[in-house]
Amino acid sequence: MNCIFCQIIQKEIPSEIVFEDEKLVAFKDINPKAPIHLLIVPKKHIESVAVLNEEDKSLISEMIWRAKILAEEQGIAKRGYKLIINCGEDGGQLIKHIHLHLLGGKKLEGLV
Ligand code: 5GP
Ligand code: ZN
Repeated sequence: MNCIFCQIIQKEIPSEIVFEDEKLVAFKDINPKAPIHLLIVPKKHIESVAVLNEEDKSLISEMIWRAKILAEEQGIAKRGYKLIINCGEDGGQLIKHIHLHLLGGKKLEGLV
């Protein structure tokens, strides 16, 4: 499958991985939009929230839980951070493998 994030998960292309277990990996975004910008990604290839099956819904809470822990480890939990999942074309999703952005380390403006 020609998916960049699957290739990162398989270690076929390099990335700065900060966490890995049997279900998830987290790595630094190649084009960071904040001093801390991590991507938290399930190892299972799921295209987007829009096609998430009920059997995989617990992965989303695993991703958010991991973001909470990583925010603490990265020292941004106290001041706060943004968690973003883009979905589909209008949502600005470029990589068609579901992922959670963890952004922090500066005051972030946003739509909401
Ligand atoms: P999306 O717009 O799909 O929510 O976000 C995709 C993110 O993946 C972008 O922030 C982009 O910088 C990041 N990205 C794209 N290709 C790579 C890559 O090869 N390696 C890493 N580490 N991040 C990538
Ligand atoms: Zn994939």
